[in-house]
Amino acid sequence: MMEKCQLAANELETLGVLNYQSVENVLSSLEMTTVSRTIVTDNGGRLIYDSSATDTMQSGFAVLPEIIQALHGNDIFTWQYHNRQMQSKTAVPVYSYGQLAGCVYMMEQDPNQGILISSLQSNILTITIALEIAVVAFSLLFSTVYSGRLRKITTSMRTVREGDYSHTVDMTGHDELRALSDDFNDLIHRLQRSENKRRQFVSDASHELKTPLASIKLLSDSILQNEMDPDTIKEFVGDIGNEAERLNRMSQKLLNLAKTEDETPISCEITYILPTVEKICRILSTLALDQQVSIQVHALQDSTILIQEDDLSQVIMNLVENGIKYNKPGGTVEITLERDRDFALITVSDTGVGIPEESLEHIFERFYRVDKARSRSTGGSGLGLSIVKNMVERNRGTITAESTPGAGTKFIVSFPVFDMEDGENDQ
Ligand code: ADP
Repeated sequence: MMEKCQLAANELETLGVLNYQSVENVLSSLEMTTVSRTIVTDNGGRLIYDSSATDTMQSGFAVLPEIIQALHGNDIFTWQYHNRQMQSKTAVPVYSYGQLAGCVYMMEQDPNQGILISSLQSNILTITIALEIAVVAFSLLFSTVYSGRLRKITTSMRTVREGDYSHTVDMTGHDELRALSDDFNDLIHRLQRSENKRRQFVSDASHELKTPLASIKLLSDSILQNEMDPDTIKEFVGDIGNEAERLNRMSQKLLNLAKTEDETPISCEITYILPTVEKICRILSTLALDQQVSIQVHALQDSTILIQEDDLSQVIMNLVENGIKYNKPGGTVEITLERDRDFALITVSDTGVGIPEESLEHIFERFYRVDKARSRSTGGSGLGLSIVKNMVERNRGTITAESTPGAGTKFIVSFPVFDMEDGENDQ
């Protein structure tokens, strides 16, 4: 189109003077079959030739925007799609001896391109509508499935809130809802565990507290119902006092045990073991003297460990106290500190009564006592070793027991060493 216009302008430039006749002669000699309108103006925009007279002719001037642009010396090409027609317009200036003499304007209507564009438009419209329907349908489907799965979780939460800790969510898939359900189930299992522990604890505790309470009731009933001399009454009241004392000790230990079963994180510090061992030996020296038992410490190698110092004291205290309590007059309790690769070992061994093999696996259970009568006479509650085990384990340690009945018992506690030069646990 632009070439045709340019060609016409070149031919017109050879004329020198532009007038209707000469212009028509030039244009009719050119092949212009597809051009639907041709206009030629002089350099002032005055109409010289118009292949179809239209109302754009105003007082002999052509005021089309393309013509105005061309008379400013520009080559213009515009196109537009209108009424299912592709319409392109071209205007180029015509020069004569280097001076602007006028311009040529051509307009072409291309119905084929128009049909192509309109079919393209209708295709795009169809595709857009199809896509929109698909998006809406998919969103509806997705939100229905998603909200159904979400409802599953909220229903489970409500069930658990009402106290059914055995309820879990069964969720398929690999998305956030699945992750949320897994976390929820995890939480439920923890709740279940702690609820079971709580129930077990309450039933164990009430069972154990019943015995001294029943003794107190029996003793006081005996005093009230029987004629007794003052000495017997004094003896009975003394027994009541002992049972009350036992109850007191037991409730204290129960509190301790409850604390160790609490799963909240503890604050640890870097601690040498030997100073704590020496402190416990000083505290228990009177008890050892009473029981005619000697305490010996063998610090083959002291180590630093990361632990809550109160826990370390309590662990050593319970083990050494048991070593004294379940010993024989003239016996010994030995505490040995050594190191096995990255572990600090604390061994507490005694030359006492020992523990029968069948009881050894139960001694860390709550309220378990091998010899109930002996344990009662020594003030035992069967809680000490379960407290020890909880404390050792919450400080990332382990505890084992070995025993030969009649010859003695050995407890081995192991904690990961914390080397201060490395600044971290060796484990
Ligand atoms: P208790 O308060 O009864 O001592 P523990 O939990 O400390 O409770 O111990 C549980 C039981 O294990 C004791 O009753 C005792 O029978 C036995 N036991 C613990 N330590 C020793 C030991 N060093 N020698 C012999 N028996 C022991």
